[in-house]
Amino acid sequence: MIPRTLFTEEHDMLRDAARRFMEAEAAPHNEHWEEQGYVDREVWLKAGAAGFLCASMPEQYGGAGGDKLYSVILMEEQARVGCSALGFGLHSEIVAPYILHYGSEYLKSTYLPKMATGEMIGAIAMTEPGAGSDLQGVKTSAVRDGDHYILNGSKTFITNGWHADLVIVVAKTDPNAGSKGISLFVVDTSMAGFTKGQRLKKAGMKGQDTSELFFDNVRVPAQNLLGEEGMGFKYLMTELPWERLQIAVTAVAAVEAGLAWTVEYSKERKAFKRAIGEFQTVAHALAEIKAELDIGRVYVDRCLELMMAGKLDAATASTAKMWTTEMQFRSLDRCVQLHGGYGYMWEYPITRAWADARVQRVYGGTNEIMKELISRSL
Ligand SMILES: Cc1cc2nc3c(=O)[nH]c(=O)nc-3n(C[C@H](O)[C@H](O)[C@H](O)COP(=O)(O)OP(=O)(O)OC[C@H]3O[C@@H](n4cnc5c(N)ncnc54)[C@H](O)[C@@H]3O)c2cc1C
Repeated sequence: MIPRTLFTEEHDMLRDAARRFMEAEAAPHNEHWEEQGYVDREVWLKAGAAGFLCASMPEQYGGAGGDKLYSVILMEEQARVGCSALGFGLHSEIVAPYILHYGSEYLKSTYLPKMATGEMIGAIAMTEPGAGSDLQGVKTSAVRDGDHYILNGSKTFITNGWHADLVIVVAKTDPNAGSKGISLFVVDTSMAGFTKGQRLKKAGMKGQDTSELFFDNVRVPAQNLLGEEGMGFKYLMTELPWERLQIAVTAVAAVEAGLAWTVEYSKERKAFKRAIGEFQTVAHALAEIKAELDIGRVYVDRCLELMMAGKLDAATASTAKMWTTEMQFRSLDRCVQLHGGYGYMWEYPITRAWADARVQRVYGGTNEIMKELISRSL
């Protein structure tokens, strides 16, 4: 593989620690978490104590003051052990940055330190039963009433939704103002009128809690408005490229893991008196997967450099998300094929990785929406 140039010695040390953490604290529990449909809360506290949550948040808010590559390393090591159950990336690198970038001092000091320890788990709720791709079509409303906003509506498919202690909620503050009528709120799940629905049963990512959320006249203090009223859509458009790049990071890392398992399997599995990897069609399939993996990695690493320099644009991030997730599903599907019948057995990590991969083309904006964003730049 083309040597990666992103990481310093400090990053490498962090990677060793993250690898040990994932091997000791995630991999052995994965099956149990999948069966129960959520991770034990304890692992959040352990990750917090180890400094793995909100690592890129400033130290004054409980973070490690690291760069975003700290989280990238954690995402890659999580993919390496084939554990999709931990919603750390969303918590640390999607929810926390909204609070850091747009939140008042009150919001930052109230929520970020507890998110960094794992005492509070974060989620972000954009999607509704009737609106996903078309974010401007959300119906959840927030009506100003003195020092509060009254929140009504519902959300669905919310990652970390069942565990969540705080949720960034996308709501309409002015139904007649189009994109300028959307605002973001930091909603404490302990607020009266907030309820969580069932954990949704999914085709993959079975250990990660994904829930519906309901708001019935929730009185949200006005100080929990994130940034300015009516600016929510702009904030979302600013933050979404990084969210999409994170999906690309995990896509490439998942293929790297899947390829390693498949190479190993193709050396061990015998058919017609030889290892299946000795058949040229098998060896070539592995070579093609490797080629796409390497090319995807270089593109994603370059996007990471741009992101760190504050120069990652929406179309470039969308390209990374679209191409790598299509490549991920295509590659892992081939890896399943190379495992034969065992590739369809849940006990095999390749099977789980393949099932987990499917949704990567859907969430974070579907790949059709990514094409919209790319085509607009042409
Ligand atoms: C496991 C999981 C976790 C998720 N986590 C979260 C979360 O934490 N927070 C959150 O807010 N959401 C979350 N989502 C929701 C996810 O982001 C949405 O499902 C996704 O954006 C698609 O929206 P939708 O389901 O409403 O599909 P729709 O928007 O109804 O789309 C249906 C189909 O129509 C296509 N389509 C729509 N518009 C266009 C267009 N203009 N041009 C071409 N094709 C189009 C879509 O590409 C898709 O193929 C999650 C979803 C899943 C499955």
